[in-house]
Amino acid sequence: MVPGSECACCQEDNVTVSRIIRWEAIVHSRQTGSFALLMLLFARITSNHVVVRFSTVHSFCKQCARTTWWRIQAAQGAKVLLFTLLFVALLFTVPMLILVVALFWTDHTFELPFTLALGCGIVITALIALSFRWVWHFPMRGRLTEIGQYPFAPVNIVSASDN
Ligand SMILES: [Zn+2]
Repeated sequence: MVPGSECACCQEDNVTVSRIIRWEAIVHSRQTGSFALLMLLFARITSNHVVVRFSTVHSFCKQCARTTWWRIQAAQGAKVLLFTLLFVALLFTVPMLILVVALFWTDHTFELPFTLALGCGIVITALIALSFRWVWHFPMRGRLTEIGQYPFAPVNIVSASDN
């Protein structure tokens, strides 16, 4: 049941445990790149997506098995937090954009402060989008990075003997 003789993370030979990693990919047909990364998070709250799930079995040294477990938990928690932040940021940025466009055609008196607010909103939204990318790759080390590419994200890691 243990494929290979070295740890999937650190490539050391002292492999002692076998773990199953469960992966999930939310496939959204039309978008590509960073934009798709945001869209698939929205896809979670709509029905317009297909979820692909699969499992892989890996050998780990004890240390890496533990590290990978907590990194996956941390990444899962961080994604929920970032999604909430993104939602709040867009709730602010989108109305600002509409307001600035409306002011451009009518009243120029308050254009500057609203444009600055819009700029802040865009920067914050972009930072959140970049954080998503970082969080996406955070749990995976060594050979696992080859599997952990967008749109495939690890959702869980369990002991292979439990199944
Ligand atoms: Zn290791």
